[in-house]
Amino acid sequence: MAGSTVATACRAAGWQVAIVDSLPFGGTCALRGCDPKKVLVGGAEVLDWARRMRGRGIQNGSRLDWPDLMRFKRTFTDPVPKDREESFAKAGIAAFHGRAHFVDRSAVEINRELLEARHIVIATGAKPRKLNIPGEQYVTTSDQFLNLDSLPERILFIGGGYVSMEFAHISLRADREVTVLHRGERLLEGFDPDLVQQLFEKTQRLGARIHLQAEVKAVEENNGALRVHAQVAGAENILATDLAVHGAGRIPDIDDLNLAAAYVEAGPRGVKVNEYLQSVSNPAVYAAGDVAASGGPPLTPVAGYEARVVAANLLEGNHRQASYIAVPTVAFTIPPLASVGLSERSARERGLKFRVHRETTSSWYSSRRVAEDCSGFKVLIKDETDQVLGAHLIGPHAEEVINLFALAISSNTHASDLRDRIFAYPTLASDVGYML
Ligand SMILES: Cc1cc2nc3c(=O)[nH]c(=O)nc-3n(C[C@H](O)[C@H](O)[C@H](O)COP(=O)(O)OP(=O)(O)OC[C@H]3O[C@@H](n4cnc5c(N)ncnc54)[C@H](O)[C@@H]3O)c2cc1C
Repeated sequence: MAGSTVATACRAAGWQVAIVDSLPFGGTCALRGCDPKKVLVGGAEVLDWARRMRGRGIQNGSRLDWPDLMRFKRTFTDPVPKDREESFAKAGIAAFHGRAHFVDRSAVEINRELLEARHIVIATGAKPRKLNIPGEQYVTTSDQFLNLDSLPERILFIGGGYVSMEFAHISLRADREVTVLHRGERLLEGFDPDLVQQLFEKTQRLGARIHLQAEVKAVEENNGALRVHAQVAGAENILATDLAVHGAGRIPDIDDLNLAAAYVEAGPRGVKVNEYLQSVSNPAVYAAGDVAASGGPPLTPVAGYEARVVAANLLEGNHRQASYIAVPTVAFTIPPLASVGLSERSARERGLKFRVHRETTSSWYSSRRVAEDCSGFKVLIKDETDQVLGAHLIGPHAEEVINLFALAISSNTHASDLRDRIFAYPTLASDVGYML
């Protein structure tokens, strides 16, 4: 995402550009992340909706056919690398395959081939954090999960972040036995705790076993079956499963870049950059996307935005600073959970005076119509100025409606103005007025 966006912009401005990837071109989002995941979520949603409507006019007999859904998914992912190669060739961007590492301030090596450049943009993304436990090799990564030919009966997720919870919700709709082990005290730590609690209860109602304060210690394999050793709330546990999925977080993919050779400083959050997304220690180098310690969340639209900032600064000199107000984030569970702006906690920590509008909305028309028993919102509005500080939604279409709040926050639209807007009815957006 980030790399190809910068490359395309610089090439369009007449620069000579090369791009390198060690995997087929396309990046995580299109090949191993957002896009394929949401195709699977889409299948699971249809099934879930049909099931929710049982006894409400829908007779249900359908089930999720994993291999068929996977074939459908591949119709999206399979063409991507070739399309990208062709578009690079058409644009005149030199595309290289292989693992790149720095050999100098402004030179990288790929398969013993040396490339020198006036500028180098690091856009290597993120990779699963190492678990450092015995049997780590038996743990399935998100890349592998999104490419499984068949979905085993029992699936255990290590970690309770968005990757695990999204995959857990898909697996539950495929009638699999789901367990989630999460180290922290609550799932989906970046989201509003009250809405997360609603989702937690919903996920349990769907049949998932969720253990909090659970630390995985080892994974053993025996004839294809796995035994996961975990400490759950202080007690030793052994859990039998067919698949253990890594959902325990991702870290910047920098380990084998040999950053030291280029004097590029980095930390646990990635390549250290200034407000122009330029390396703090080597002005020839910029970074964008998940690999940059920019303060922006590791999300596709942020990677694209940072890439546009980097391209502008490369082409016209440093003048564009990255800013991250109103970046919406969504966990594509069923129903989805979405958030933008300040959390209630961070608003309090900042000493702001604001009012909180909070309701569970499963009795509202919009949820009852689709038989969704898990929905609600929390909106924070600043007392003095009537500005929307933050919005947190769970329920059908939360992933779309959150963008309205993002727009309100970024354009400084006051709550009363937003409340007075006319939205099409009956839509989820028409609930926004009641939320305010
Ligand atoms: C399962 C999953 C689901 C996700 N869902 C969402 C979602 O719904 N919405 C959302 O906004 N975000 C989502 N994300 C995050 C999103 O995919 C990333 O934020 C986005 O892809 C970051 O783009 P990027 O350009 O920084 O890196 P990437 O897209 O990861 O691209 C980096 C590329 O660099 C290559 N590379 C790494 N090191 C080297 C090297 N040394 N030499 C050569 N090539 C190298 C990699 O092969 C990779 O292709 C998801 C991620 C995952 C894993």
